[in-house]
Amino acid sequence: MSEPSPAPAPGRRTAVVTGGGSGMGRAIVHRLAQDGHPVAIVDLDAGRAEAVAGEVREKGGEALAVGGVDVSDRAQVDAAMGRVGEDLGPVLVLVNNAGITGFREFLKINDEKWRRMMAVNLDGPFYCTQAVLPGMIEAGWGRIVNISSSSAQGGQQYMAHYVAAKAGLIGLTKSLALEFGPKGITVNTIPPGFIDTPMLRESERRGMFGGTVEDHTLRTPVRRPGRPEDIAAACAFLVSEEAGYVTGQIIGVNGGRNT
Ligand code: NAP
Repeated sequence: MSEPSPAPAPGRRTAVVTGGGSGMGRAIVHRLAQDGHPVAIVDLDAGRAEAVAGEVREKGGEALAVGGVDVSDRAQVDAAMGRVGEDLGPVLVLVNNAGITGFREFLKINDEKWRRMMAVNLDGPFYCTQAVLPGMIEAGWGRIVNISSSSAQGGQQYMAHYVAAKAGLIGLTKSLALEFGPKGITVNTIPPGFIDTPMLRESERRGMFGGTVEDHTLRTPVRRPGRPEDIAAACAFLVSEEAGYVTGQIIGVNGGRNT
């Protein structure tokens, strides 16, 4: 049996977090920076990307804001990843976190809504991953974490387009894990469940998940909503050296709501 190729020396492993300007993306940015990664925040909202980069720098970390980037646009993604490569070096960690949600009766989902959901939540990770994989292959080391959703594990009424896109992301994860495991690249997915972020509060405000966050807390085994930091902690493990034998996995972080 041949020896596995040695991993590159630990140290500067540049990370990209899409949607890093808000919610759990922001928490992931902070955690990865704290763990020593230079982190690029690729987000649609340029102001929030800058703000989060500033927070990281204030704490002594290294961060680059790449704002105004729509992950559903391949040209914008390629340009963004090119800039990250020039400023921070090859991207060896990718967290596909940017996403949008939606709530609509299935028969009222029109083509535009369906396509936008697929474009951001599934095409986005497809473009981002294709943009950074060549560099990971060259390095013989890489970590990709796809933020899917617990709704894709159990289904969710009135969210068929969202659930279909997130279920696609789970399938993408498993297939890429098989294809790129031999190259030293792991690919895993975290399907968060009920995490207290602006997205969750907006869903609550719009009456999208039946009841309030407090109502759902009572039905959650650990009796609290998830915190963005809970997702960041799982992510930090999955991108670490120690997680090299973990790939193609669905790592649920949901307070026991899905088992
Ligand atoms: P959030 O607070 O709304 O943050 C999402 C971030 O992604 C925002 O900064 C948003 O920017 C950005 N974004 C949206 N569309 C984008 C695009 N086309 N290109 C680039 N950036 C874009 O949401 P969150 O709750 O942290 O969610 C993060 C991820 O977790 C999402 O993929 C979501 O589906 C998933 N998730 C969340 C929960 C939960 O309980 N919160 C549960 C399951 C899964 P703008 O604000 O400018 O749009």
